[in-house]
Amino acid sequence: MIDKIVIANRGEIALRVIRACREMGIKSVAVHSTADSDAMHVRMADESVCIGPPASAESYLSFPAIISACEITGAQAIHPGYGFLSENAKFVQIIEDHGLTFIGPSAEHIRVMGDKITAKDTMKKLGVPCVPGSDGGVPTVADAKRIGAEMGYPVIIKATAGGGGRGMKVAATAADMDRAFMTARAEGKAAFGNDEVYIEKYLTTPRHIEIQVFGDGKGHAVHLGERDCSLQRRHQKVWEEAPSPVITQEERERIGKTCSDAVSKIDYIGAGTIEFLYENGEFYFIEMNTRLQVEHPVTEAIFDVDLVREQIRVASGLHLSFKQENLKINGHSIEVRINAEKIPNFSPCPGTITAYHTPGGLGVRVDSALYAGYKIPPYYDSLIGKLIVHGRDRKEAIARLQRALGELIIDGVDTTLPLFDALMGTDDIHTGSYNIHWLEDWIEKKFPE
Ligand code: ADP
Repeated sequence: MIDKIVIANRGEIALRVIRACREMGIKSVAVHSTADSDAMHVRMADESVCIGPPASAESYLSFPAIISACEITGAQAIHPGYGFLSENAKFVQIIEDHGLTFIGPSAEHIRVMGDKITAKDTMKKLGVPCVPGSDGGVPTVADAKRIGAEMGYPVIIKATAGGGGRGMKVAATAADMDRAFMTARAEGKAAFGNDEVYIEKYLTTPRHIEIQVFGDGKGHAVHLGERDCSLQRRHQKVWEEAPSPVITQEERERIGKTCSDAVSKIDYIGAGTIEFLYENGEFYFIEMNTRLQVEHPVTEAIFDVDLVREQIRVASGLHLSFKQENLKINGHSIEVRINAEKIPNFSPCPGTITAYHTPGGLGVRVDSALYAGYKIPPYYDSLIGKLIVHGRDRKEAIARLQRALGELIIDGVDTTLPLFDALMGTDDIHTGSYNIHWLEDWIEKKFPE
């Protein structure tokens, strides 16, 4: 059994993993850069190891530094959180070669799903419905134009290695194709070192619906329903909820079973999320994330499960602690992402937190590594916290969110909190009537730059 885990991450997700470890009686080891010596994850873990300078490439992304932290502390396993090394197949291979356990899927599954063309091809073969598009990579702009003409515009050009909303460009008509094709390719090359692109039909009014799956690596897998992450800005999620206000129980069971069957067929181990666009009653696969998602707490709330605990259990060779028939939805949960960013242009806003007060009471959870006096370093992601609420139904969850937002105080830096305060006064939010483009249009009108 694993009795000590190195957490190869920082911020709220490092705290999240430390909390699961503590409840399971497992020792936790924080790793940190010199910019994070005063960070909360360092204070909360049982032990900590400084692994390098502020630049992520030399600390949180450094294979030798993280493996050394395991060796120094005698930890047997590494939890990667999300981001950083969580979807790096090479890292997983190397740590396994060192006799360490990666808390997550196999290197092979990460590799397959990390390349979007291969992922789509694999999912199609496993019976998962996909967005119509090119069969594999599109080498030249002439090919792209031919496919665009056949498929009909608008289309979206996507880098096969893309992620975090980068490497995607829409071509509304044939005239846009040169620019869209070249830009997607260049972004893929610059951000991910891979310029291969493919084409998909651009869906104009979909919602983003993703299915949480969990496999035990022994051919058994379950699904934990969907999360609706349609409220996005620049293809990045801002507000997530479970269940979706538009999915029926019949649809949930059908797409959920398609997903759990798909991952059980490949003996998938650990947590995964299969992302879809949903339009006119149809699901279209876009990608699979082979890790814990930022928005996992909404699923935890409605199913009353600890997903990190389950990750650690299956990595230790144990079975999942629930079966499909035990998983019943209880109520409704919403998460909002709090970023240290200045509205209206959402530019990062690092600095010192001068006052910090978190909301409490029934159905409120705050996952954050902030404290009063903490200095947010400028080197990392701008996510500084997540406010998660749970109510008996969507109406109660929204009322609770509004109440909790009223109690939450984060002073000293600009945050995205004013966005959520403003959203509370919007009819479409209360009725759940929006698609993936709604928020961006609304922001443009409400907070003109
Ligand atoms: P990333 O890996 O960068 O997160 P995804 O493939 O998951 O990229 O897509 C992120 C978001 O981009 C989706 O939630 C959706 O808003 C938008 N998107 C992706 N593919 C399409 C498509 N075919 N049509 C319309 N929007 C899309």
